Amino acid sequence: MNKLIALNNVNQKFIHQVESISKQKVSNCYQCGKCTASCPADFLMDISPNQIMHLIQIGQKDEILNSDSIWVCLSCITCTARCPREIDITSVFNALRIISRKEKRPVSIRNVKLFFDIVLSSIKNQGRLNEVPLLLKYNLWSGMLLNDADLAPSLLGRGKLHFIRRHKVKEIKEIRQIFSRSRISDS
Ligand code: SF4
Ligand code: SF4
Repeated sequence: MNKLIALNNVNQKFIHQVESISKQKVSNCYQCGKCTASCPADFLMDISPNQIMHLIQIGQKDEILNSDSIWVCLSCITCTARCPREIDITSVFNALRIISRKEKRPVSIRNVKLFFDIVLSSIKNQGRLNEVPLLLKYNLWSGMLLNDADLAPSLLGRGKLHFIRRHKVKEIKEIRQIFSRSRISDS
């Protein structure tokens, strides 16, 4: 991201919105760059994590919500663990996705919204991710029927794919209540 940004367009409402949803004080970031240095997905991002933090501080809503980065983030929490200011950056990225979805913003990365929808619906309905139905639904609905099919034998061999889940999640009612109370259900 090498762009000059005019600071006459600071969206204060957006800054409050991100801080309120993520429950993080974004202004505490002092741009050390550790989040970016430790991010395994930074090479896929058009705006690095520390730059996202800076853009939030200066209220550049469109710049952020139009970026691929918020959808490329893996929610791996490495940045959160490394931040010397103890900012939960992963929650900040989650807040950005929530805002983007609430506003029905277009997502530039192909099928990423579909993937998130399938993941969320799996957790909502079964309390966990079920890898095989997830992969089948994603491939079917995205029109890429044989996507990653070559990985199946080695994943099966390592016990990473399960056709039948033996353990049911007992707290499914509570999980559904979380969904119905959460902002995710509004998206
Ligand atoms: S690690 Fe924390 S303080 Fe450093 S740039 Fe990232 S968010 Fe800011
Ligand atoms: S949570 Fe997202 S932004 Fe943070 S290190 Fe992981 S991929 Fe990068």
